[in-house]
Amino acid sequence: MHPLLARDLDSLPELLEEVRGYAAGVLGGLADRPVTRPAVPSSSAASLPVEGAGTKGALDRFAERWEPGFSGSAGPRYLGFVTGGATPASLAGDWLTGTFDQNPTSRADSAATELERETLGWLRGLFGLGEEHHGMFVSGATMSNFTGLAIAREWLGERLGVSVTTDGVAALGTVPVLSGAAHSSVGKALSMLGLGRGALRPVPLLPGREAVDVGRLAEALAALDGRPAIVVANAGTVNTVDFDDLRAVAALKDRFPFWLHVDAAFGGFAALSPRHAHLLEGLEAADSVCVDLHKWLNVPYDAAVQFTRRPDLQVAAFHNASPYLGMPTGDPDPVHLTPENSRRLRALATWFTLAAYGRAGHREIVERNAAEASRLGEALEAHPSFRLLAPVRLNVVCFTLAGAPAQERVDALLRHVAASGEAFLTPTVYAGVPAVRAAFSNWRTTASDTARVLAALDEAAASPA
Ligand SMILES: *Cc1c(COP(=O)(O)O)cnc(C)c1O
Repeated sequence: MHPLLARDLDSLPELLEEVRGYAAGVLGGLADRPVTRPAVPSSSAASLPVEGAGTKGALDRFAERWEPGFSGSAGPRYLGFVTGGATPASLAGDWLTGTFDQNPTSRADSAATELERETLGWLRGLFGLGEEHHGMFVSGATMSNFTGLAIAREWLGERLGVSVTTDGVAALGTVPVLSGAAHSSVGKALSMLGLGRGALRPVPLLPGREAVDVGRLAEALAALDGRPAIVVANAGTVNTVDFDDLRAVAALKDRFPFWLHVDAAFGGFAALSPRHAHLLEGLEAADSVCVDLHKWLNVPYDAAVQFTRRPDLQVAAFHNASPYLGMPTGDPDPVHLTPENSRRLRALATWFTLAAYGRAGHREIVERNAAEASRLGEALEAHPSFRLLAPVRLNVVCFTLAGAPAQERVDALLRHVAASGEAFLTPTVYAGVPAVRAAFSNWRTTASDTARVLAALDEAAASPA
């Protein structure tokens, strides 16, 4: 054994203690750490060391060279994109994921796949889905959309009497994929699946909304003359957290042949809040469902879940049969269900946070985040420098500067806020207007954080660009 490995092995408990202390320091200061850091110039990338420094040496080097450039994205005032943090229990689960380093591909050697199964059952209950929905862990909502749409592709083949898994996607011809305000990752998934980004046919939205006009969707389906299609329904859009009327979309299945995929990446968590759960009515009718876990469940990256009613088609798409991995018979091993072959046991962080806080704890996070979003929305509405672009439906505030601001003014506002270190918000364009999104999805965020975000916005709006 290399002497540095041998030394680290000998002093493993002390090394872990050292890292624990370091991590505790980082997390202890998270609420007051600058939310964003200027990018570290990359001019002087170090070369690969021939002789290493050992774990302690690497930790010192990281702390000195890299840590100062890391953002407070796990903290309470990082409102960019849709970014969750990591609950204490999920972090513990994540540490233990690396500690045990299981590879839950098969059920042959470990209970890890059973823990995964238990966790998937818990998630299914959390989102109000039933036994007919089979779940699997994937790395994020993009991969969950990819997996759901891969199963949809198999289903189209079944309808058309061809096997995509054997004959390739060309056997399908062109595939219509209909959606209102689909997330950009749907186009990416269609590209990866060989269906093509061009397969996506946007369906008109309701006036002033990001929800699909179900009447126009019915017309688009009728125009297909009985050709099977994929419908991607959206449960929580990134700009204004709008929801398609899932029940009305699902009801169209009685009239037209289509696979219903629902992207509920973060909107799925509306199920935890009795005030908002109605937004998901009809979700149980979906053929496949995408929900992110590293956003609103607040587990560390990377984790999402995908559910489907057709695990048989999932096996058709993803099976990885070989004498050394086993065959996909009976109760197929996860290796036959996921895009990956080897995987980390990402279920463990989710298991920990659900075991630690239960439905009630996670409901409290969702309700508190939604309340803070409302609070910020009301304050901005009353503020002479800002105006809301949409009602605050759940956890995102979509707003802009008063009047008809140019892109440069919005960019300058966001730069000013970021430079304050107090908050991080990200830009968008909504209904043609340069805009700002503030997305609340971190378990730590409280009313005092919202007050600090508002103060940073107020100061930035008053400053010359
Ligand atoms: C974030 C998001 C995605 C993509 O999620 P990743 O986990 O970043 O891959 C897809 N759909 C919606 C609605 C999202 O909010």
